[in-house]
Amino acid sequence: MRIVVLTGGIGGARFLLGVREHARAIGADVTAVVNVGDDVRMHGLQICPDLDSVMYTLGGAADPERGWGRVGETWVVKEELAKYGVEPSWFGLGDADTATHLVRTTMLSAGYPLSAVTAALCERWQPGITLLPATDDRLETHVVVDVDGERKAIHFQEWWVRHRGNVPTHNFVFRGADTAKPGAGVLDAIGQADVVLVAPSNPVVSIAPILAVPALKDAVANGPAPVVGVSPIIGGSPVRGMADKCLATLEVEVSAGGVGRMYGPRAEGGLLDGWLVDTSDAQAQVPGVRTKAVPLWMKDPATTARMVADALELAR
Ligand code: GDP
Ligand code: CA
Repeated sequence: MRIVVLTGGIGGARFLLGVREHARAIGADVTAVVNVGDDVRMHGLQICPDLDSVMYTLGGAADPERGWGRVGETWVVKEELAKYGVEPSWFGLGDADTATHLVRTTMLSAGYPLSAVTAALCERWQPGITLLPATDDRLETHVVVDVDGERKAIHFQEWWVRHRGNVPTHNFVFRGADTAKPGAGVLDAIGQADVVLVAPSNPVVSIAPILAVPALKDAVANGPAPVVGVSPIIGGSPVRGMADKCLATLEVEVSAGGVGRMYGPRAEGGLLDGWLVDTSDAQAQVPGVRTKAVPLWMKDPATTARMVADALELAR
């Protein structure tokens, strides 16, 4: 069996721990198609937060408290940059993490596509699944906000890390998406998949930028594999993160039903055949989509693996 997962960073990485565990039990092959909209260049380094969250988590090297970056991280580089007074000073750049960004940036500068760079980095971390960037082209999520009395588009990282999302926010724009092509291997993986799972990632800034790549969206929406999503919203709030702020900006109800309806039924040009919601959201209504309620708290990989088994069941 071949499983493709559309995923963002921290929530998606935790989901993938369960996907990998279940896939090992049933002998399935897993490919994660990872959001690159958060990617950003800082201090000359190309940083891919979601790819790194997934790679470090599956490689057993993620910081479990912070959720992103490396366990046992030190911050000398960040402190030294601050002493030079260089901006941006609000971005957390760990020392061990910096080595990853140096390798990545060097390879990109030498002309390797991000997909090849990701494969090279994964030789060290052995995530046990295939990680593919949604696109090898430049695609960045920008956020239309009002700051200092001025309306402008800022990078998603600036919106979230610097402003904590606490600025008047009007829209999310996926710069470069219109002309972006699916990353190397992505269309093959989707075309050969037996099922496509949508991780319980942020629907607005993790899943939407993946689907903003036109040929990728088309392959998922019109491909042979059934698509089953897992709700990132439990009982009206995101378990962690800012999905509520993002959904509110788009005037989407912050609920399992609201996100399911936003994705919409595949039969009507949307994304989903099936939608897994938490037992506390059993009343969620998503017309045209098969819905099932099971526990959705990703407490540990074993619990998450049971969610994945339920998602595969719903796909049948
Ligand atoms: P990011 O890219 O690091 O922001 O991570 P993702 O977009 O992949 O995932 C963030 C989302 O994961 C949040 O919006 C939460 O709603 C969701 N999430 C986190 N933990 C859980 C959990 O235990 N269960 C479910 N269903 N969703 C979760
Ligand atoms: Ca992210």
